[in-house]
This record gives sequence, structure tokens and C-alpha cells, in this order.
Amino acid sequence: LHRRQLLATACLLPLAGCRLMPERELINPCLGPALPAPLARHEVVLAALEGLNTSGLWDAHVHLLGTGDGGSGAWVNPAMRSLLHPLRMTQFHFYMNAACLDSGGIDEGYTARLHGLLNEMPAGVRAMLLAFDYVHDDQGHPAPSATVFHTPDHYARDVARRSPDRFEWIASIHPYREDAVGALRRAAADGARAVKWLPPVMEMDPGSPRCDAFYAALRETGLPLLVHCGEERAVHGASRQDLGNPLRLRRPLEQGVTIVVAHCASLGTGIDLDAGAVGPILPNIELFARLMDEHRHEGLLFGEISALTQRNRFGRALETIVHRRDWHHRLINGSDYPLPAVMPLFSVREMAERGYLDPADVPVLRDLRRYNALWFDLVLKRRVRIRGDSFDPIVFESRRVFDAPGQGGGRQSEAGEEQAPSGTPIPGC
Ligand SMILES: [Zn+2]
Repeated sequence: LHRRQLLATACLLPLAGCRLMPERELINPCLGPALPAPLARHEVVLAALEGLNTSGLWDAHVHLLGTGDGGSGAWVNPAMRSLLHPLRMTQFHFYMNAACLDSGGIDEGYTARLHGLLNEMPAGVRAMLLAFDYVHDDQGHPAPSATVFHTPDHYARDVARRSPDRFEWIASIHPYREDAVGALRRAAADGARAVKWLPPVMEMDPGSPRCDAFYAALRETGLPLLVHCGEERAVHGASRQDLGNPLRLRRPLEQGVTIVVAHCASLGTGIDLDAGAVGPILPNIELFARLMDEHRHEGLLFGEISALTQRNRFGRALETIVHRRDWHHRLINGSDYPLPAVMPLFSVREMAERGYLDPADVPVLRDLRRYNALWFDLVLKRRVRIRGDSFDPIVFESRRVFDAPGQGGGRQSEAGEEQAPSGTPIPGC
């Protein structure tokens, strides 16, 4: 990656609605990944591990990206690298910089940096690598031209197999595919820990009966569904934001599928589908809260906290989640790597100004981020304190949701198996 190129394209960011403060560091200097001794021994860093069982620290949201230049089968839409699409190109360059890809192969460099970051963390810390399926049309055919990037299941599986002490993997299977159920069974047999969907981008409707066979297979395999809810902004081409409405998850929940809602649905608004197709518009996080507060979803519905500490989710989303101590045993941590390494997305100074962080933590966190974005993400979330509340240690022990005995999508909702899904009225069903 050429820094001059990145700087030039970054000038276009204001066009994309990103306000850049002049003092903010724009480019990741990609130091480390080892921390210099004073930082590694800093009390802020050491305190982050207190009270945590490190063998449970699975990061449930880590993107595995590649271009296929190393034979991975991963793919990035050429528009992401084309001068004809300056905003997409800018985004691509930020991701490449975040992953510290300066020269050499992208497939190889991406996994090498990620592995390097993890190796500087305590034993037991693992990244759950996300595969990423193509957008599929209504007929269930892949639509590469509408897809921003693709990471095949077999690539995530193979990277995870090579370093089982540091990586787990999460499959991505579009439910409209003709071979969806077979692909899911294969993924489960190959050690996948969950399935990831990004409905606003991949264009599946979680509230559609077309997903029912897939939901039955999720239950049978015991795999949870990690599903992005709320507005999607990190991936260009999110054409169906309505598909990120948390209430569309009533259908899989009623069928007893374990659901993990990425980012706790913390961005954007959605129709209150419980009130019908023309119900009032409410913040997605409120719709998510409604599902969380329904007692029958205990043990079945979880929230994942990646991106809550990004600048665009400060305020209500972060405060709500931190204050809901009664939810914390149902929350899990994820970093959304490489986003913690995309410099303009975070501002620890602003977090301190809002009273979320001790101002004394700011220089330590800034420094940490320049060396190791995964350490930064963990320490940052451990330091957040809002009017006396912070994330309970159990939030960080995500392993419990993906690796507990008897855990997984096979768990039944209170409705039980014999009861057919009640068919909550969701448009498109
Ligand atoms: Zn993500």
C-alpha cells in the first residue's frame, strides 16, 4: 500500500460523510505487533486481564479478508480497487492499511499480521474468523457483481486449522442457495462454530419461510447464527437496510435457533413490525431490546458488542448496553477486526470527553492501538465506565456461547418443538 495514495484518497472521505478532525491520526503506523516493554507492563494493560479467564477470550467477530493472490479463493470486487469508484477505493485502502499490508501478498500478509497480533496476547485468546458468502438473488444464484468481497468457507476453515490455538472459524452460507443445508452440514462437520449473515448486504430475509429448512439444520447441527442487525455502513452496497430489522429474527427464535445479534443492532431505525408492516419507525436498538426483554429468549438470544466503541455508536447505543447489567450474561465480545485498526473510526479522546474513559487512559490507549489493534480493542472495552457501570467480565468470555457442552442452536425455545412457528406477521413472509 502506498501511503501517498491512501492520503490522496482519504481526502475524499468528507464526501462520504466522515468528519475528520485535523489532530486525528489518519494512517495506522503499523508498529509492533509486540508491545514495547513499558506499554506491555503498563497498569492499564495489565488491569484489563484481571478477573478474566483468558481461555474463554474468543473474539467472535474477526474478518478474514483476501484477494486470492495467495490461492485462498478469497475475492474482492474490482470496483473496490478502481479509480472509477473513489469512495470504495478509499475504503479498500483504509482496510489494507488497517491490516498493515505494505508489500507482498495480501492473502498471506493479512493472516500473518492477524496471527502476529494474537501471538502477543495471552495464551487462550482466539479470533473467530468470518467467512463471507456472496450476495444471492431471489433464485438463489450468486451475484458477484453485487458483492463487495467474498471469503469462502474453506479458506476460513483452512486458516483456522493451521493455528488451532489461535483461530476458530465461522461459516457464511446464504440460505437461498440450493445447497445451503448441505453446505451447513459440511461446515459443521469441518468444525465451524457458527454461521454469519449480513442481511442488508447479502440480501437474505431472516423473517422469510425460505429460511426455515436452514433454521432446522442450524438446530440439528447446534450452530448459532451470528447475524448483523441494524444499519450497515462498513460494507459498501448495503442495499436492503430493512433486512437488518431485529424483529425479523422472531422467526428463527421461534424455531429455537440460537441467535447472536452483531453490534446489538446499534445503528439506524426500523419498522416496528410487531405493529404491522406500516408500524411506527423505532431505533433498531429498541427493537433489539424488546426481543432481549422477552423472557422466552433467555438462553437463545445474545448480543455481540463489536463496533459499540466506534465514533458513530457513541452515546445512546453504548450507554444503553453498558447500563443494562441484566443483559451482560447474554452479551459477547467481538472486535470487528480490522475496524479497530482503521484509525478515523475511533476516538479515545472523545470517549474521555464524554466521560466514558478516564482521561489518563487516553495516551495509553492511543499508543496501544498503534502497535496492536486487538490489544487496544480489549483494553478499551475493559476501561469503559459510564456512571459507575462497565462491561461485566463474562462479556469477554465469548467462548461460552460457541463451545459450551450442550450449547448451540439445538436448544429449544419454550415454545417447544411440537409447536409450529406462530408466524409473526413480517412483510415478505
Ligand atoms: Zn464486521
